[in-house]
Amino acid sequence: MKAIILDRDGTINIGQQYITALNKTRIYRDAPTALKKLQDAGYKLVVFTNQACVGRGIITEELLKKINTRIIKLYKATGVNLSRIYYCPHHPEAQIPKYRKACSCRKPATGMLRKAKREFGIDFRHSFVIGDALKDLEAGKKVGAKTILVLTGNGRRSLKELKPRTRKAVDYITPNLLSAARWILKQG
Ligand SMILES: [Mg+2]
Ligand SMILES: [Zn+2]
Repeated sequence: MKAIILDRDGTINIGQQYITALNKTRIYRDAPTALKKLQDAGYKLVVFTNQACVGRGIITEELLKKINTRIIKLYKATGVNLSRIYYCPHHPEAQIPKYRKACSCRKPATGMLRKAKREFGIDFRHSFVIGDALKDLEAGKKVGAKTILVLTGNGRRSLKELKPRTRKAVDYITPNLLSAARWILKQG
């Protein structure tokens, strides 16, 4: 199965920070068009997101799940089917003990991607990881996916912070999801 693995905040959902309230959940205007094209081309769409705000006690895991469900619904209303949103609630210095650990799911680690591979039989060699942060793409590179940096969210800042060493994690840089989708579809 080929897949598009998407970061959440700053990539499919507007924002430069964590979402802390349900009513702050907003999707990019062109994102449904972009994801629909990819879905129609046979890509499974999955989302992976670091949400240390849970471990830090800023929002509860329950609210995080509600926010994720809302994002899935907003996309579903446009005809886009996000198969799953994987999240990492952990942080090594989380205030809440049960989330305090150096886990293997927090990006740039690959735990969420490996889970998605198990669950959906994803073939990373024919898949793309898209995000506005370098750690999204570093995780993607580690599993052998092609990686795209979008300049929405924190993307412009990520671009400025690219170093020769980290540049290798990025296969393509593009303004937004729609231009990313066009590039992917040209790869054949
Ligand atoms: Mg992001
Ligand atoms: Zn984790």
